[in-house]
Amino acid sequence: METVNQKEEYVVSEIESSIKHLSDERVKHAIVAQGYVREYVMDFLRSRGYIEIPPIIISPLTDPLNHPVYDPRIHAYGGDMWITKSMIFHKQIAVQELKKIFIMSPNIRLEQEERSATGRHLYEFSQIDVEALDKSREEMMDLAEDLIIYTIDRIKKEHPEELKYFHRELPDYKKPFDKITYADAEKKYGRDFEKKLSLEAKSPVWLIDIPLREREFYDREYPDKPGILRDMDLIYPEGYQEASSGGEREFELSKILERIHKKDQTEEQFKWFIELAKHGIKLSTGFGIGIERFTRFICGVERIEDVSPFPKIPGKISL
Ligand code: AMP
Ligand code: MG
Repeated sequence: METVNQKEEYVVSEIESSIKHLSDERVKHAIVAQGYVREYVMDFLRSRGYIEIPPIIISPLTDPLNHPVYDPRIHAYGGDMWITKSMIFHKQIAVQELKKIFIMSPNIRLEQEERSATGRHLYEFSQIDVEALDKSREEMMDLAEDLIIYTIDRIKKEHPEELKYFHRELPDYKKPFDKITYADAEKKYGRDFEKKLSLEAKSPVWLIDIPLREREFYDREYPDKPGILRDMDLIYPEGYQEASSGGEREFELSKILERIHKKDQTEEQFKWFIELAKHGIKLSTGFGIGIERFTRFICGVERIEDVSPFPKIPGKISL
């Protein structure tokens, strides 16, 4: 049977729209800006002693994520592997020895079709993924604030022409960014609060203490607040919503097992990670900032596909 991406008229129209997209001046400027974002975030992390490790594309162990995505599985060498959805577990392993690491990490997450309308989701994107050993959430929030401020500041100083092109005026954001707990945000703005919080914010704002039901099993719980995690999301102002997610990672075997069961996942699914935890791992903390979303915010464009040369919009097979 001929699949959609083999139909001649589909291929013709997709190639035409790709060429049109790439010839759009706004897209060209946003691609240039994305190049600077990539360069500056990595410069910043190197200046703080972080070591770059290369991305991992395929592995028997990957992020379960807390929302449904289509799951491409590759059967080879007598076993199953997945295309990595994030490098969370690899970060946690590598950081034990390398102490402070980052990855410019391409992620494939085959998001469900309804996410095509958000303006914030692609099914292929990159995050700058950061992890450090023996650091607290607060220390990593401080690092992320410096990273955001540094990157924006450098673009303003070295490439004001790109911001001018988009008529974008960005303030000098000051540390520390405001913080709000998940419970308080829900109380103040209602259940679906992210957009409202973002619209009201004048500066990036931290959403902290996220309940386990909203997150994956691997982030660390407060020892004295069961069900509440020592993690943090960064929310952009002006309605741009989530910039980053991160947290302290669970490292004790008994808690990892307990959490896998609480999330109705199987030990079989995470046997590679469980085996590692049996060897003993130490506390690490990290975060990931979506590069396309950061560029979208810096340029002030509405839709994420406009910052990407070959945007992969959920639900659609694209070049
Ligand atoms: P997560 O840990 O799942 O929150 O992913 C880390 C960051 O990557 C998010 O905060 C976003 O900035 C970015 N991100 C996650 N999913 C997508 C997506 N489907 N499209 C674009 N960026 C994404
Ligand atoms: Mg997130």
